[in-house]
Amino acid sequence: MEKREIEMKLVKAPTDERKGYPLGLPCDVCSGHTNFQAIVCEGVDEKGKVVRICEACLKEPEQFDAKLDYCAERLIEWAGWLRNLRGRIKAPSLADWKAANRTRWEASETEKWIMDEWERNDDKSIGQRLTATRQEMEQWEQQRAAR
Ligand SMILES: [Zn+2]
Repeated sequence: MEKREIEMKLVKAPTDERKGYPLGLPCDVCSGHTNFQAIVCEGVDEKGKVVRICEACLKEPEQFDAKLDYCAERLIEWAGWLRNLRGRIKAPSLADWKAANRTRWEASETEKWIMDEWERNDDKSIGQRLTATRQEMEQWEQQRAAR
């Protein structure tokens, strides 16, 4: 079965509402990202998944396939490395980590705040915990900046 071509278009990049400039977005060709550009190059594959190309990759379109192959090989190697770690990780406990981190003199107020949040939200899933932490941290940073 022949694969159909993916029509790429130049589209407006979403803007970070808080910071007021375009977001840096992942590039599917080089695994890098766009450099906060207002216009990005995107297409949609046959499964409806967005394909994006950064401005650095657009400079050398003849390299698209070589870069895709290179990134795919790196991902395969990475997957093998991850599988090779299975059953071999002997880590200190979370309690050990907390104790060591609490005694670090350079632990910032933000780090201490994050640890406190982890303890308070211990019953939530990681996803809920991270979302709550991110939102609360932004509020905390705003309050801190206002002081
Ligand atoms: Zn790229």
